[in-house]
Amino acid sequence: MKCEEVRELLEALHDNELVPETRAAVVEHVQGCSGCARALRDLEVLRPVIAKAGRFVTPAELRARIIRTLRHRDAGFARGWRWRTLSALVASHAAMIIGGGLIVYVATSDYLRHGSATREVVAAHVRSLLDERRLALTSGDQHTVRPWFAGKLDFSPEVVNLEQDGFPLLGARVDYVDGRYQAALEYTRRNHKITVFEAPADETWVNATRRSVHNGYNVIQWVSGGLSYQAISDLNGSELGHFAALLRRKSKE
Ligand SMILES: [Zn+2]
Repeated sequence: MKCEEVRELLEALHDNELVPETRAAVVEHVQGCSGCARALRDLEVLRPVIAKAGRFVTPAELRARIIRTLRHRDAGFARGWRWRTLSALVASHAAMIIGGGLIVYVATSDYLRHGSATREVVAAHVRSLLDERRLALTSGDQHTVRPWFAGKLDFSPEVVNLEQDGFPLLGARVDYVDGRYQAALEYTRRNHKITVFEAPADETWVNATRRSVHNGYNVIQWVSGGLSYQAISDLNGSELGHFAALLRRKSKE
């Protein structure tokens, strides 16, 4: 196992959520790798602190930064999706801003929630790469894959085959990620796997494409037609961006 794979699984190891074979592989790696062992120790120390921070009052400095970002939003001052996302979240609750601190707390909780959601989908992607039986259905035919989800999920996912564009669909599975069952579609590009998670978008999603890099994996998240999409891969950012744009366009057709 590579270090970046192990890093994605440390939280699951800490929470005792790994299947025995994966757990054994992670533990073996950590015992022989000082970097990953340190990351696990840091996690053990930090987890309770982060959990508390999510529940209690937002630091004043962070609060001031959010308000500054809001003020300068239209002047193009806010750089980076984190602050743009925060300002969009806060703006969506504009009526409550007058209420003061509460809204900052809500926005910050959403921000923290999205950070952990990203970690979860990356971890789910890495887990799937390690599991030989990861695809419950092996098919690149959208007319086979889409009906296969019926009865397995409480929503109907979009399934698009992008084979002609160089991103063949390999198959599908249902995965439990971020507290709900999601459709997971697997695509490939020159031996790089791409997982796309789809689920109904709740009110914490904002209508903007977000890109992030998490332990070497590129993540692109967007909302379309009431569904949230999260594409994860070790493919380079520009090709994954091309893939996401194609998927977004074709799922609307
Ligand atoms: Zn390592």
